[in-house]
Amino acid sequence: MWLDGWMRAQGIEWWGVADLGGLKTPVDRWARSFARAVSWVVPMNPDVMMQIENGPTPAYAEEYARVNRLINSLSRDLVKEWSARGVRAQAVAASERTDAVGIRGDFPHKTAATRAGLGWVGRNCQLVTRRFGPWVRLATVFVDAELPCGPAVERDFCGRCRRCVEACPAGALKGGRWRPGIPRSRLLDARACDQWKKTHYPQYHGGHNCGICSSVCPYGRKWFKRYGGSREP
Ligand code: SF4
Ligand code: SF4
Repeated sequence: MWLDGWMRAQGIEWWGVADLGGLKTPVDRWARSFARAVSWVVPMNPDVMMQIENGPTPAYAEEYARVNRLINSLSRDLVKEWSARGVRAQAVAASERTDAVGIRGDFPHKTAATRAGLGWVGRNCQLVTRRFGPWVRLATVFVDAELPCGPAVERDFCGRCRRCVEACPAGALKGGRWRPGIPRSRLLDARACDQWKKTHYPQYHGGHNCGICSSVCPYGRKWFKRYGGSREP
């Protein structure tokens, strides 16, 4: 299918299609929802992730912005590709908070990614992939096409690890184990996380960056070793 070639041409290695059955999706301008989502990840620079210790760094803030720009640009291009084929499609913006009270976006990228089989939600409440750990940012494009999906990931592979829980300076991670449909509040005190970032790191995207619970993850650090990064984990 053309989508495989498109992904290859963009250098996207880790992608899949999610069946959104049973979920409430955003609607298009004719109030029609979507049955499928194309989901992919863009890895962060592992050298930058390794440098995070007690909070975000200027390099992390730049990398975060670079990857988000790339995701938004790729998502726009993919919507155009579908439209050119007469198929409805709609992108979810990277890291856009549309509900300030609930501290959420329009649709959780993580839900599409787990249903597409890209990874699980770790104790750090982020998508964890086997290839890059949680050192990724996520992209989602809703599409109205009958594409083969998944298989969905339906359990976590964190095992006994609790490194992210212990590292969180806000005490915001609850140590719970993810399964599909579990309320976010069982994993994360989103308000405590948000307050910590706004209070301690306001200079980084208005207090939206931290990176600590991502940086410590052994799945990310394994990738750093494989990638042959410049600094020993
Ligand atoms: S982003 Fe920072 S404050 Fe929020 S849960 Fe992770 S380590 Fe804690
Ligand atoms: S640090 Fe450990 S517990 Fe946290 S997400 Fe990574 S593997 Fe899971």
